[in-house]
Amino acid sequence: MGRYLVTGGAGYVGSHLVLALLDAGHQVTVYDNLRQGHTQAVLPPATLIQADLADRITLDCTLADGPWDAVFHFAALSLVGESMQRPFFYLAENAGLGIGLIDSCVRHGVSKFVLSSTANLFGNPQRIPIDEAEHIEPGSPYGESKLMLERALFWADRIHGLRSACLRYFNAAGADSQGRLGEDHNPETHLIPLVIDAALGRRQEIAVFGQDYPTPDGTCIRDYIHVADLAQAHLRALDALDHRSVTYNLGNGAGHSVMDVIRTVEQVSGRAVPVRMADRRAGDPAVLVAGSDLLRRETGWAPRFDALPTIVAHALAWREAHAGGYEKK
Ligand code: UDP
Repeated sequence: MGRYLVTGGAGYVGSHLVLALLDAGHQVTVYDNLRQGHTQAVLPPATLIQADLADRITLDCTLADGPWDAVFHFAALSLVGESMQRPFFYLAENAGLGIGLIDSCVRHGVSKFVLSSTANLFGNPQRIPIDEAEHIEPGSPYGESKLMLERALFWADRIHGLRSACLRYFNAAGADSQGRLGEDHNPETHLIPLVIDAALGRRQEIAVFGQDYPTPDGTCIRDYIHVADLAQAHLRALDALDHRSVTYNLGNGAGHSVMDVIRTVEQVSGRAVPVRMADRRAGDPAVLVAGSDLLRRETGWAPRFDALPTIVAHALAWREAHAGGYEKK
């Protein structure tokens, strides 16, 4: 049994990782300021420290209260669009506070660190699927802030021997298959929950951002990966850290257009989705699909819930049962 610290463990992906650790019999402490996370997403026996990464005293005390077998770092601002409006806020919060965390980990003898990184590192991909050899050109200050953390971790390994796994997620989606956790952002900006809300009559319609992309139906293509499969990939990456630091792209390797997602939600829910065609959203690349061969080959990871109807069914089940998200059932 291991003992793990998870920053941002009350958020969407972080909470599903906590659950995967608990299900595997580990002991987990969540460190989260609850600005975006939810107390209800921290399931017992995990414990919650409600604090900000900027609170260096609480952070240092928490790390001193080890030993920690690894630190998983999810806590971050994560809206690409917002980061284009507030670049220095994103860089200071995500990169600045993240580097403070890495520094604290080094000072307290943590030997393994897992970073939630992003496909936004590839703002202008030359080849699809996108593998780890793709050139890095962050699409936004959000992506840049994650790149800064990847680089800080490179030096943390080289100088201090802190091993790290950088996992570059594509589009996290779905919910715990047993309905224990789900996706609850405020405001919600992600496609699948918004389309589900339109199907459930909780929104008037879904706006399709752009129909003139160079894709078969003209709408953007993304690689939707089940949040539970993402969580499992973190456990596999953690094992890989016994040998060396690693960096992996993390997706299913299959692309689905915005219209594919809408049709799938209609099929799975049995309800029509009102659609409105809208302009392109700034900064959206036409196609983002991951090449995750390296992760599969090196760690044996394989997705369990890679079928889009399964991802949608799990997301739909949780959203139907939680009309107002975690706070209002
Ligand atoms: N999208 C859309 N309407 C919405 C929200 C998203 O057409 O109301 C599109 C968006 O332009 C992108 C895809 O759906 O092509 C996935 O967007 P999301 O925000 O879920 O994830 P991203 O790919 O930006 O990380």
